[in-house]
Amino acid sequence: MIKSDSASRRAVYTGSFDPITLGHLNIIERSSQLVDHLVVGIGVNIDKPPLFSLEERVDLVQRITAHLDNVEVKTFSGLAVNFVRECGARVLLRGVRSLTDIEYEFTMTLANRKLDPDIETVFLMADEAYSHISSSLIKQIAQAAGDGELAQFVPTAVVDALRKKMAAGT
Ligand code: ADP
Repeated sequence: MIKSDSASRRAVYTGSFDPITLGHLNIIERSSQLVDHLVVGIGVNIDKPPLFSLEERVDLVQRITAHLDNVEVKTFSGLAVNFVRECGARVLLRGVRSLTDIEYEFTMTLANRKLDPDIETVFLMADEAYSHISSSLIKQIAQAAGDGELAQFVPTAVVDALRKKMAAGT
């Protein structure tokens, strides 16, 4: 059993963040106001090769969330519930944009509940201004879109990082 007195004020927001978008940032900003301490957990994804390395994603998320005192960025591999426990938290935070997201998250939540019934998954609904944004969309449009267009979807640090990636030909 995780003690709930100190742990209840911590939450862990997991994802690939490849790259972090304005939608992710909105969830981070909103949830950081609900808890004492928020860990952004960047997962090692085994089924799809990322555009940005783990180190690059950590660097971007750290820079983009630097204005938030109670946000910490960590990486993890393996089960999200184990990582949440390691962080001393019992709240696993996720964002949902659509019914499709909910369907996927519903299955994940039930599986995670079986894996560790002490960990509670909490959802924040995407702000309507960002609900159309996904990391995969960014990767699809990055080549063709201009900087101003991309800046409607991702922080400017990510626009710069995408440009460097493309210039490097990777
Ligand atoms: P994953 O690969 O684990 O789905 P993502 O980095 O794509 O990781 O997303 C992390 C979490 O943030 C997921 O819960 C996802 O639904 C949510 N999310 C992604 N984009 C947005 C957005 N624009 N607004 C709100 N939540 C989002």
